[in-house]
Amino acid sequence: MSQHDLVVVTGAGGFIGGHLVADLWRRGHRRIRAVDIKPFDEWHQVTAGADNRRLDLRQRDACEEAAAGGRTIYNLACDMGGMGFIETHKTECMLSVLINTHMLMAARDARAERYFYSSSACVYAAGKQTRPDAAPLREEDAYPAMPEDGYGWEKLFSERMCRHFHEDFGLETRVARYHNVYGPYGTYDGGREKAPAALCRKVIEALHSGSRSIEIWGDGEQTRSFMYIDDCVIGTLTLMASDVREPLNIGSDELVTINQLLDIVEEIAGVRLTRRYNLDAPRGVRGRCSDNTIAKQKLGWAPTTRLRDGMERTYRWIHDRMMVPAGSGRVCS
Ligand code: NAD
Repeated sequence: MSQHDLVVVTGAGGFIGGHLVADLWRRGHRRIRAVDIKPFDEWHQVTAGADNRRLDLRQRDACEEAAAGGRTIYNLACDMGGMGFIETHKTECMLSVLINTHMLMAARDARAERYFYSSSACVYAAGKQTRPDAAPLREEDAYPAMPEDGYGWEKLFSERMCRHFHEDFGLETRVARYHNVYGPYGTYDGGREKAPAALCRKVIEALHSGSRSIEIWGDGEQTRSFMYIDDCVIGTLTLMASDVREPLNIGSDELVTINQLLDIVEEIAGVRLTRRYNLDAPRGVRGRCSDNTIAKQKLGWAPTTRLRDGMERTYRWIHDRMMVPAGSGRVCS
């Protein structure tokens, strides 16, 4: 991809999209169109020199405006959040099918060369994730299909739509199955946050309220792997530049329980809290980890940031945001 070609990033007001636009800008790209439905003051990051636009990409004409002249298109727009959101907003999650479908049609009609779709580990079959020590998920484990209800089915359908746009129209599509991405400039409150940011926020709240206790969703023994945002951006760019047309895991294989993740946050914060386990809260699957064999073989790439290091940076950022004085931003509740 030449630095003179127009790059389109949708979902640019969100967590990963905001980092991707900022990274492309740092790499010298000066023709970037950044699109999101949110008002600009709600974007996690705004890159000033980009062509920033506010569009509802469920609408086909909005997708045509977004894609016009685009040589490469990264579609990261999606109505989503952590388990607390996707277990209770299945219709909203599935309606994101409109975004990817209309963006694919617009990319084809704009004669884009490459199209990236951000899928998820939530496409993997539930039966392969029933134990904390479940084997890491290989790409083939998405079938026979039984993904996460709502969100996961939409992602799996949209992966297949990408494949058919390549088969039928020659559009080069690349599909990443992201596994839990975390880092600064993401959501940490409001209901859409994911476990790493939620635990940082809860620890900071416990410290400042003096409660010295914390609620954990489930028994804390469910396992996950978490990928730091810088690794996610590099993995995304590497996949996009590759000739890998099949969906590929872009995720960490450093497995932890949620209790171990909290141990890390407590160590960073210098505190030990009493843990209250809410067994009725959304928990997701019992065990999930990325198998990176194919990513290593075909991309020569795997994440390199240790969870402890990424969590330190994430905690510091959330802490600073929560300490902003009232009236000039968010405050600690
Ligand atoms: P995010 O919610 O921070 O960003 C998504 C953005 O899409 C939001 O800013 C939202 O306003 C925008 N959007 C929603 N509906 C829109 C519409 N109709 N038109 C235009 N924009 C719209 O999420 P994220 O963490 O940055 O995730 C980006 C992509 O990666 C999503 O497709 C998500 O499903 C996928 N993904 C993320 C993770 C993760 O851990 N963050 C894991 C797996 C997959």
